[in-house]
Amino acid sequence: MATLHTKVGIIGAGPAGLLLSHLLHLEGIESIVIEVQTRQYVEERNRAGVLEQGTVDLLNASGVGERLRREGLIHHGIELRFNRQGHRIDMHELTGGRAITVYAQHEVVKDLVHARLRDGGQILFEASQVSIHDFEGDSPRIRFERHGEPSEVACDFIGGCDGFHGICRPSIPAGALRFYEKTYPFGWLGITAEAVPASHELIYSNHERGFALLSMRSPIITRAYLQCRPDEDLAAWPDERIWEELDRRFETCGGFRLNRGPVDQKGVTPMRSFVTEPMQYGRLFLAGDAAHIVPPTGAKGLNLAVADVRILARALSAWYGTGSEQLLKQYSDICLRRVWRAQHFSWWMTSMLHRFEGGDGFDHRRQLAELDQVTTLRAAAVTLAENYTGLPFDLPGETL
Ligand SMILES: Cc1cc2nc3c(=O)[nH]c(=O)nc-3n(C[C@H](O)[C@H](O)[C@H](O)COP(=O)(O)OP(=O)(O)OC[C@H]3O[C@@H](n4cnc5c(N)ncnc54)[C@H](O)[C@@H]3O)c2cc1C
Repeated sequence: MATLHTKVGIIGAGPAGLLLSHLLHLEGIESIVIEVQTRQYVEERNRAGVLEQGTVDLLNASGVGERLRREGLIHHGIELRFNRQGHRIDMHELTGGRAITVYAQHEVVKDLVHARLRDGGQILFEASQVSIHDFEGDSPRIRFERHGEPSEVACDFIGGCDGFHGICRPSIPAGALRFYEKTYPFGWLGITAEAVPASHELIYSNHERGFALLSMRSPIITRAYLQCRPDEDLAAWPDERIWEELDRRFETCGGFRLNRGPVDQKGVTPMRSFVTEPMQYGRLFLAGDAAHIVPPTGAKGLNLAVADVRILARALSAWYGTGSEQLLKQYSDICLRRVWRAQHFSWWMTSMLHRFEGGDGFDHRRQLAELDQVTTLRAAAVTLAENYTGLPFDLPGETL
C-alpha cells in the first residue's frame, strides 16, 4: 500500500476542507485533501450563494477573492414581504456599513481548487472506501482507494470536513459525542432558472400558502425557493406549476411578477438543525456541515464552515509554530458559541417566515406581528441586519 506523509490530512473538498488547506498553506503547513467526488462534480454542485461580510473579507485577505470582487453582487439590503407589501431592511445603514455578497458556493469552490493546485497543493479526487484510524493517538491515518489502488495518508491531525453525510463524525466512538437535532415539518423546493432576477435584492416572503424566497446567482440567473413538504415529489411540479406558485406567493398589491425562463436545476431540500458537541475527538477536528447544519433561511451554513476552519487553521498554526495546544483545546468551544448563535438566528428566521400547519391561525397572526416589529422598530431591524450580515469573527469576550 502506498503511504503518503503530510501534516494535516483533510477529508472533503467542500468549502471547509479546501479553505482549511489553503489557510494552512499560507501558514506554511502542508496538507492533503481527500475527496470522493470528481473535480467537475464539486465545482458544479449548486448550493449556497450568500456570503457574509466576514467570509468575503477572509477570502479577500487570503488571496482568493479576485473573481469574487469582480463577479460577486454586493447587496446592502433585503426585502421582507408580507400582507402583499414589501418592506426593505437596509442592512448597510443599520450595521454601519456592512453588506452581504451573492456569489455561488461552487464559484468559491472553483477559486479554492484553482488556488490549491496553482500553489502545488494535493487534492485527491475520486477516492473511495475512505476510512480514518488512530486519531486517538499522535499518528492518525487515512485509508482509501484510488483508481483501484489502496493508499494511506499518515498525518499529525485530521480535518473532518466531509459534510453531513461523511464518515468522520460516525467514526468517533459512540458515547463520545452528543447530538442536538431539530427537524422542521417542511422543505424547500429550489430552482435555478435562466431568467433576469425580478428584484436586485433577495425577497423573503411570508404568504398564507407558504414561504418563498427570491434569490439569484448572477444578473441573469434567478434562484427561487418554495416551502414544500419535506418529501415533496418533484414529478408533481412541472416548471409551469412552480412559476405559478412563486407568482402567487410573491404577489403584491402592485402586481409583482417574476421573470420566467428555462429551469436548469430543481431539487427538494429538507430543513433541519443539527449540532455535534464537542467538535473534536483526539486529533480529529470536525468542521462545517460534518459538525452542524442549519436550515438555509438564515444563509449561515457556508459561512459557519468558513468560520470553523479559520479557527482551526489558527490553532494548528499555533501548535506547529510554538507547540501551544491551547487554541486546539478551545477549538470546539469557540466554534460552538458561533454555531449556536447561528442556530438561533436560523431558527428565528425560519419560524417567522414559514407556514406551520394546524392551529387556528394564531401562529400566522404572531408572525405578522413579529414582521411588523422587525420592519418598524429599529432595534429589531438592527438585530436582524447584524446577524444576517454576520457576527464579527471574534465574538465579544473572545480575543484570539
Ligand atoms: C440547497 C442548499 C442551499 C443552501 N444555501 C445556503 C446559503 O444560502 N448560505 C449558506 O451559508 N449556506 C447554504 N447552504 C449550506 C451550505 O451549502 C453548506 O453549509 C456548505 O456546503 C458546508 O460546506 P462543507 O465544506 O462543510 O460541506 P460540503 O460542502 O458538504 O462538503 C463536504 C465534501 O466532503 C465530500 N465527502 C463526503 N463524504 C466523503 C468521504 N467519505 N470521503 C471524502 N470526501 C467526502 C463531499 O463530496 C463534499 O465535497 C445550502 C445548502 C443547500 C443544500
